[in-house]
Amino acid sequence: MQPIPFLDLRAQYESIKGDIDRSISDVIQNTTFILGKPVEDLESAFARYCGTRFAVGVNSGTAALHLCLAAMDIGKGDEVILPPNTFIATAEAIVHAGAAPVFCDIEENSYTIDPAMIEQKITKNTKAIIPVHLYGHPADMDAIEQIARKHGLRIIEDACQAHGARYKGTRVGNISDAAAFSFYPGKNLGAYGEGGIITTNDENVARICRLLRSHGEHPKNSHSKVGYNYRLESLQAAIVSAKLPYLDSWNKKRRDNARTYEKNLPRSCITPRTNDWCAHAFHLYVIQHERRGALRQFLSENNIATGIHYEKPIHLQEAFSYLGHKPGDFPVSEHVMQNILSLPMYPELEEEMILQVCEKIILFDKRWQQQQH
Ligand SMILES: *Cc1c(COP(=O)(O)O)cnc(C)c1O
Repeated sequence: MQPIPFLDLRAQYESIKGDIDRSISDVIQNTTFILGKPVEDLESAFARYCGTRFAVGVNSGTAALHLCLAAMDIGKGDEVILPPNTFIATAEAIVHAGAAPVFCDIEENSYTIDPAMIEQKITKNTKAIIPVHLYGHPADMDAIEQIARKHGLRIIEDACQAHGARYKGTRVGNISDAAAFSFYPGKNLGAYGEGGIITTNDENVARICRLLRSHGEHPKNSHSKVGYNYRLESLQAAIVSAKLPYLDSWNKKRRDNARTYEKNLPRSCITPRTNDWCAHAFHLYVIQHERRGALRQFLSENNIATGIHYEKPIHLQEAFSYLGHKPGDFPVSEHVMQNILSLPMYPELEEEMILQVCEKIILFDKRWQQQQH
């Protein structure tokens, strides 16, 4: 059996080689390597795609999150609410801004922050909520917005896994004060290196993000703020621009693949549930299985690559031990994270390969049942 990789960036490149090679060559010919027209072109195309007034290109999703917070003047003494079952960068960005991360548990169905549990986390220091559209499934933004409005909080979407997903018809990135996207190569819309972008309808947030990403400089040699070097490279912007027209068809392929998994996986797997008000971007296809560790091992022996997103919730990571959390503090996150397994998921994944993955999981269950007798 041919190995089934977790994702296949080579296959994607082969399918759009002409577009990519041309954009790379154009950048080299024009010798603008940092910001410049390729970045401006991506910013307008991505803002148009999301339906927002502004987009600001930066050099990672982490930088995008950090700048959103900084542009909203969130820092020392402030608290920001986020779920504990996300990539560490969501929490790091809050610390980089000088603020304190405050975790809030998730809904078991969607793996996203549980709006019913947010209010009890709000103190007089709370300034913002960062819902994470984890795995490509949008968080329940209407419920979150109601809470934010009542308490005067800002909302920043962590949309790093959800390019092109929709919440009640609206694109993610356009349902809050500002949003952060990552162009890390394996994301639904990926560069060939580091990259990220901020979307917002808030002119002031866009202006400050633009200033802060390049040393607070505007105009040339005039520095009104202490900023950062968070500039997006022109090559990366040109590559992402070349891929953007394909994003919707790639996401549709991901949803088709999810449907094939759903139809063919055995009942031992809890498959992802999509709330009917959203279009899932399926960055990751995450199941739950009671014997996750053994199943992962078995699939690996059968040349099927899988992942775990993530192994440990952030409140139990050593880096955040200063917050004083202990196991049991966020039971829903902790419970699901013991059973989650990410199966291969990418647009170029073929139906035949999905069926092979499902067959192996069925075989794994059968062997386990035999051992029980
Ligand atoms: C990838 C990711 C980030 C960080 O993006 P980088 O571009 O790697 O800095 C942040 N949050 C989530 C949920 C992510 O998946």
